[in-house]
Amino acid sequence: MKFEGIAASPGIAIGRAYLVNEEEYCVIKRNVSEAQVKKEVARFKKSISRTENQFKRQRDRVIEEMGKKYARLFDAYMLILRDPLLYKDTIKLIYDEKINVEYALQMVIDKITKIFSMLDDEYMKDRIRDIQDVGNKVMRDLLGQQGVSLKDIQNRVAIIAHTLHPSDTVEMKKDRVIGFATDVGGKTSHVVIMAESLEIPAVVGLKRITRHVSPGDLLIIDGNEGIVHVNPDPEIIRIYRKKKQELEEARSQLIKIKDEPAVTKCGVEVELAVNIETVQEVSTVAQYGAKGIGLYRTEYFYINRSNLPTENEVYERISEVARSVFPHPVVVRTLDLGADKLAVQLGIKPEGNPFMGMRGIRLCLAYPGLFKTQLKGIMRASEIGNIHIMYPMITSIKEIKSANYILKEVIDDLESAGTPIKKGIKVGVMIETPAAALDIEHIANEVDFFSIGTNDLIQYTLAVDRISETVSYLYNPADITILKLINHIISKAGEKGKWVGMCGEMAGETLYTELLIGMGLRKFSMTGMFVPQIKQVIRNTTIAKSEDLARRVLAAGETAEIIEILRKNKEEYAK
Ligand code: PEP
Ligand code: MG
Repeated sequence: MKFEGIAASPGIAIGRAYLVNEEEYCVIKRNVSEAQVKKEVARFKKSISRTENQFKRQRDRVIEEMGKKYARLFDAYMLILRDPLLYKDTIKLIYDEKINVEYALQMVIDKITKIFSMLDDEYMKDRIRDIQDVGNKVMRDLLGQQGVSLKDIQNRVAIIAHTLHPSDTVEMKKDRVIGFATDVGGKTSHVVIMAESLEIPAVVGLKRITRHVSPGDLLIIDGNEGIVHVNPDPEIIRIYRKKKQELEEARSQLIKIKDEPAVTKCGVEVELAVNIETVQEVSTVAQYGAKGIGLYRTEYFYINRSNLPTENEVYERISEVARSVFPHPVVVRTLDLGADKLAVQLGIKPEGNPFMGMRGIRLCLAYPGLFKTQLKGIMRASEIGNIHIMYPMITSIKEIKSANYILKEVIDDLESAGTPIKKGIKVGVMIETPAAALDIEHIANEVDFFSIGTNDLIQYTLAVDRISETVSYLYNPADITILKLINHIISKAGEKGKWVGMCGEMAGETLYTELLIGMGLRKFSMTGMFVPQIKQVIRNTTIAKSEDLARRVLAAGETAEIIEILRKNKEEYAK
């Protein structure tokens, strides 16, 4: 079987499937033996009883705290639990099809949803949600009994999951996880960015792959083309083994230019830095011949732990990174928690629209104690290396002023305590919202530098969720509006005498390198493994050629035309 999704993290992985169940569960079909059928039914009945008891407990608590009328929902839920549509049909399906209970239950929920959705009745739509809710509760109970987690992985496996979170990927070990494929997700989700950093091939947005894979199935994950093969023919395996080998050879050829300078044919230098999420990734700077770190996503230090890091811990982490790449710079981005990276310690309630919610600088300003602790740690480390500070998710000057005010307080505190810190540390902001991009001239008065975060800039400008597979067809760096904004940012920053870099995923894509150089960009930061390919493009072009390309692209009115120009340009360069 072949599945097509979104090419996320490049490379090819061939190996056995390992299925991960997590909160937004994935359901796997398993055929069971005659003897096992009864056990599956028993599991179902036990799960129904456990869920019923859970509802009862919740109902009693609600009665106690809020009164009887609020407890009716739980009575309704308990009726649904035993409703023949859900209860009897699931059992029947297990017997008839000889399948595992999770899959049978999922099929029943899907069937009910489909039938009731056809009715144009708001009341019935609400009932569907109730049935789904109850069904999901039973499903979680069933899956919870299996209790598998990424941490338990012992062998080299390819992961299949409905969805993964950055907190999962950050735990993946390159020597255990050879690749992953998920039902949902978009190209620039932090899950994918992390996979790139770990150099793990990944395909996302496969919609229903979890339903078609069983543990131990042989998988081919093609992260370049966005394809996953499940139990492929020997011939396909042979082709992919060869392809994998060719890709690896091409990579090791390319890496040979790591010690060559990133200079155009006409002698202009372009700075190439790497993005990192963890201290371990610092090695990619030297490995790929980059000049420092253009984006250190510090928030990963705050997830997957029950307490918050102390000032000393922050100091030690940042110092280690700064020391390792000295004299090259490290752009330390202050906490960008929120959206898809949650710190449970803060007890922030989940939001309906988290990318638009309490995220990045908003969260830091709402929790000044947390922000100050981080800034203190960073400022103390400034003595050790070449550190710049950068604020994420800026939408207004006011936020920068408030953040700078807090930074000043931190500096004053440290100075009056006699703590050595570097004077005149450079402070910049991410330009990743249309609001910041459009007000760049004013913002320039408050900061020393900018870094264009295309991952968010694209999602906020085009109103397209970066982690959604359903609208991923709209997520396009070559969209004329995005290119106009980027051109605006670069030229206005230049007029104001402020340097500007790019650290979004677009910076690592060869299709756009010459275009961006043509617009005047001279600093690129990306996942380490993309540095050699970008360097190669730089070394093969000239400023005049790049400027000509930028002129043609910006004059083209439509995105399709732009893509055509960029593709042709890339083909010519590849000759
Ligand atoms: C961006 O938005 O482009 C960026 C680099 O930041 P992040 O991917 O961490 O949101
Ligand atoms: Mg961002």
